[in-house]
Amino acid sequence: MINFTVGPVQSSDAVRAIGAEQVPYFRTSEFSELMLENERLVKKFAHATDDSKVVFMTCSGSGGMETSIMNCLNKNDKALVVNGGSFGERFVELLTRHGVPFTEIKLEHGKALKPEHLTPYEGQGYTTFLLQKHETSTGVHYDINLVSDFCKRNGCFLIVDTISTFLCDHFDMAGTNAGIMITGSQKALACAPGIAVMILSPDALKRVQENRCCCQYLDLKLALKNMERGQTPWTPAVGILRQINVRLKEIDAMGGAEAEIARCAGLAKYFRDKLVEYNLPFEIVSESLSNAVTPLHPTTQSAYQIFLKIKDEYGMWICPNGGEMKDTIFRVGHIGCLTEADYDRLIDAFVDLKNKKFI
Ligand SMILES: *Cc1c(COP(=O)(O)O)cnc(C)c1O
Repeated sequence: MINFTVGPVQSSDAVRAIGAEQVPYFRTSEFSELMLENERLVKKFAHATDDSKVVFMTCSGSGGMETSIMNCLNKNDKALVVNGGSFGERFVELLTRHGVPFTEIKLEHGKALKPEHLTPYEGQGYTTFLLQKHETSTGVHYDINLVSDFCKRNGCFLIVDTISTFLCDHFDMAGTNAGIMITGSQKALACAPGIAVMILSPDALKRVQENRCCCQYLDLKLALKNMERGQTPWTPAVGILRQINVRLKEIDAMGGAEAEIARCAGLAKYFRDKLVEYNLPFEIVSESLSNAVTPLHPTTQSAYQIFLKIKDEYGMWICPNGGEMKDTIFRVGHIGCLTEADYDRLIDAFVDLKNKKFI
């Protein structure tokens, strides 16, 4: 199978080799050093300030989203949240569950965030802003600078879900003055699922210390205290943390985050050019694309039926959508260990389906 989904994605041979090894004991100085190296490289790739801190939580990306809210926000906050798809919706559900007052900026699927969406909220006493930098469900890459400027003007604490855009599109944590950025091990990091990576700015660290977290397992006070010496309060997903270490060093050796972003952008362009070249009956439905994924609306067949056909008859996974987008949108990812030759195979399959009048 070739995997063109947005996670879990294909891992490099070196990362997979770690997955085959015995999981070592981790209360050792060797493991602590590995964790501190992970912290250093993640900060470097996200352009975080030196005084930021990183935690590696044993949970998926959604756990990182919930951890951010439980540890840094409370009922005295007034939050703004952009909801343009299923991940924005998840932030809304989490704010509701944890009793944080909020206002939702609801966007139609596929639509970009524009200055006029934010204007009504200027000077209204908002304390925090939550945003997916890339809303993966609809493939919309929001204008982070627009939100960052709003937050700077209004003194808002910014929580950015970069889960599917970190290492795919440029991100400057210090420049955007983000409080927290969240990513996950199974997206562009291309490791097994199970670890949420979070970078916390000094503002976030202050919020953590001042807040009471209702969950012991996900309490960042404990995670941060342990991470000072490269450890975690509980047994983490040791094997995945070792995979992350290999992967971060691999990226560093190949030219760092910017080189990895360029590689991902190259694959996205290659695929998008081929769609036009072969005149395939798919429309790109996002007003603002990320390099991570191409969201497509097939004009002649159900998106879900195409997903099944490609899986069962051509041995490849494209990424189906859920809910009301199930039949109208499928996505093709550009993250993980993929090559132009892989996209040639996918395009061949689409052309074959077109010749057979399936699409
Ligand atoms: C994948 C993803 C998540 C969360 O994913 P998990 O399934 O919990 O790992 C959250 N936000 C965005 C933008 C994502 O792409």
